[in-house]
Amino acid sequence: MAVKITIDGIPIEAREGQTILQIARERGIHIPTLCYHKDLSPTGNCRICVVEVAKQRFLQAACVTPVWEGMEISTHSERTVRSRKLTLELMLANHPQDCLVCDVSGSCELQDLAYDYQVEVPKWGSKGTRYVADSDPNPFVRVDFNKCILCRRCVLACGEIQVRNVWGVAYRGFEEKIVAGADTTMLDARCESCGQCAAYCPTGALTDKMTYGKGRTHQVTKVTTTCTYCGVGCQFDLNVKDGKIIGVTSNPDAPVNGMALCVKGRYGYDFVHHPERLTRPKVRRYLLEGQAKPKQISKSANQLWEWVETDWETALTITADKFRATRDASGPDSIGFLTSAKCLNEENYLMNKLARQVVGTNNIDHCARL
Ligand code: SF4
Ligand code: SF4
Ligand code: SF4
Repeated sequence: MAVKITIDGIPIEAREGQTILQIARERGIHIPTLCYHKDLSPTGNCRICVVEVAKQRFLQAACVTPVWEGMEISTHSERTVRSRKLTLELMLANHPQDCLVCDVSGSCELQDLAYDYQVEVPKWGSKGTRYVADSDPNPFVRVDFNKCILCRRCVLACGEIQVRNVWGVAYRGFEEKIVAGADTTMLDARCESCGQCAAYCPTGALTDKMTYGKGRTHQVTKVTTTCTYCGVGCQFDLNVKDGKIIGVTSNPDAPVNGMALCVKGRYGYDFVHHPERLTRPKVRRYLLEGQAKPKQISKSANQLWEWVETDWETALTITADKFRATRDASGPDSIGFLTSAKCLNEENYLMNKLARQVVGTNNIDHCARL
């Protein structure tokens, strides 16, 4: 059912059940938010999105207030702006002034809002550092609750998207804080290190440990790519600095996965520049030349070979010769092929051709079925 309202004096026809924020965003009317994220349930926690509604005593949180017939909404009245400034002031009063060295400076939603509303740290505030920085041993997510604004996005991201429910809120008043499980470590609270909580955190409270200190937002170039780990086809942005990948960030426009990634996609990029990465083919050379090779594969038998770097021509010739010899001696079905989701579709198709038409076997499978 249609509902007639006005926002900042503009007459608008909304749908019954829509929130003020939803209809404002649809119409391109800016209402600032902090705890709200379109992927997560709205909670009205941070009070940044408050708006003034005619005939209402209190300001209303736009993210959780549904519109009603005749509603007159003012998004930037003097009272609204004053309230947002006070809320920001209270947040900054309990926040370390770390922007100079903070990893998320330049992509921090709190910093942006403080700038937009020209709010400075109040002289009466600043309780100083209360928590140990990097306090959780999780190998991928860096925790610094000094920078937490208790927006609860991490709680929702972990609960609603990853369905692990690692994070919760504990204690009361000034002691209130985000905790993993019953105030234990993330891994003890069943965290699977997907990094969703860090991706949704609007401040530097939860960040990526592997990226920490390696590059500021303005120093990195974002290159959108598709994950090579499996066939789902998740997309994300590689963060590149000086020609090297220093991290991965979610790309909200990724068609398959949105902001979500698994631990491999988000944190499994260090192989790219790893010093032990194979960049040339290797073949095995039998150390006891002239003597019979062991028939059984075992740990001790393996020690009789060494890996030797070679060129592609040599490696492919050896492989082809071995295939031919095995097929001639034991038939084509003595050979099997396993292909990989890390390869392109075209490469997998060619592998299928190699197995069926060149070698003559249907023994071919793909790691995505394992
Ligand atoms: S989290 Fe944001 S506001 Fe806080 S220190 Fe970092 S950049 Fe500054
Ligand atoms: S890394 Fe993933 S599973 Fe672990 S707490 Fe964050 S969202 Fe939950
Ligand atoms: S850790 Fe980040 S996402 Fe979680 S409540 Fe604090 S500021 Fe919000």
